[in-house]
Amino acid sequence: MKVKCKRCGKEWDYTGDKIELLKKYPQYISCPKCNTSVKLNEENKNGKP
Ligand SMILES: [Zn+2]
Repeated sequence: MKVKCKRCGKEWDYTGDKIELLKKYPQYISCPKCNTSVKLNEENKNGKP
């Protein structure tokens, strides 16, 4: 799923385990560029604007 960092603007495609966990609880991952916590959400997954 596409993820975008609000801090540095980096976009990348996250393919890890937290996509499954996201169905139950909000999940956070670290931006690979600036290490900020980025929230995963279902909107990203569905590709909505
Ligand atoms: Zn970042």
